[in-house]
Amino acid sequence: MGSYRIALLPGDGIGPEVMDATVAVMRHIASGTSGLDMELTSHEAGATLYRQQGVALPDDVLADCLDADAVLLAAIGLPDVRKPDGTEVQPDMMVGLRRALDLHSAVRPVKLYPGVDGPLKNTESGIDFVIVRENLEGLFSSYGGGAVVGDTVATDTLVVTREGTQKVVDFAFKLAERRNGRPVDGQRKVTCVDKANVFRSFAFFRKVFEDVAVEYPEVASESCYVDAMSLYMVQNPSDFDVLVMENQFGDILSDLGAGIVGGLGLAPSAEVGDQHALFQPSHGSAPQIAGKNVANPLATILSAAMMFDWLGDRHQDQAALDASRRIEQSVTALLTERKCCTADQGGDAGTSDVGDALITLADNL
Ligand code: ATP
Repeated sequence: MGSYRIALLPGDGIGPEVMDATVAVMRHIASGTSGLDMELTSHEAGATLYRQQGVALPDDVLADCLDADAVLLAAIGLPDVRKPDGTEVQPDMMVGLRRALDLHSAVRPVKLYPGVDGPLKNTESGIDFVIVRENLEGLFSSYGGGAVVGDTVATDTLVVTREGTQKVVDFAFKLAERRNGRPVDGQRKVTCVDKANVFRSFAFFRKVFEDVAVEYPEVASESCYVDAMSLYMVQNPSDFDVLVMENQFGDILSDLGAGIVGGLGLAPSAEVGDQHALFQPSHGSAPQIAGKNVANPLATILSAAMMFDWLGDRHQDQAALDASRRIEQSVTALLTERKCCTADQGGDAGTSDVGDALITLADNL
């Protein structure tokens, strides 16, 4: 029997609303899944808390995230809440959480659900690939560092290590083993996305990728330059299964990925390490639409589905895997029927309506 303690961080802006809808769905699914038990602990963290108390991520909240079986976060940051140096609290808090939980791989599914009106014309073969982003190194190694010399020169250093690259590439191949391959023909494949023709660091990333690929003979492997990949993601997205790349490239291409399958309101994500994992929608706190019950909660709800999938895989727990599958099936049915869409998907449903509709759909699966 799987019993999990989940730390919830609703955060700022639309975060609390999309979290409420998600928690309602999670509770309903868990109560209807035999052998699945969960305890939810919700914490204040983020820009609103920083404005009130001068701290975005209190030590006891971080300790609870480290202690929990998984962390589910909705949205952090408000543009008008700044630290004394003028920067927002969001990057500081997120990089801090990633480093503390040692979350080496970020996962962004790029999946076009039936009924979703994406911007691409030829999608008959389907779009269903995953971007795996190295999450602790690359250009983000420089976060909190970098150098500004006078008023003339600024530098940030991109770092690629064998250990960090091995971890993320290994994660990508293991993920490909669990998937059904690329939509066009079912081939399982991992594509290394880099700039190995120009930079030594990326040539090294590719070399480590090729070393790891040898250990997975059942999964095809190839490499592609990042500029070409940004073209192929638009022209032939059904050719891809799992893409693995450096941190900053992943940051950019994952928003492109969200754009081709219906936008940020439908884009979930996971950040995974060897011991911990954090799940959150790809969008931010969208303060312009906060408090109006119009935000799309599906990215957070799909992130919760990824969380149950990770827990199920990690603990060999069929109940958690079933919960993940039921959430995703309900979302697929909702989008296919186009019955209860928020404004970003062309409808007029409220955030809470989507949660309620999913609960009804889950009962009728
Ligand atoms: P951040 O830098 O914090 O990631 P961002 O600049 O990427 O934030 P978001 O807060 O993600 O911006 O939102 C950008 C816009 O996308 C919002 O103003 C809103 O119009 C739309 N958006 C984002 N998330 C949602 C959502 N869940 N539902 C509906 N619209 C959304």
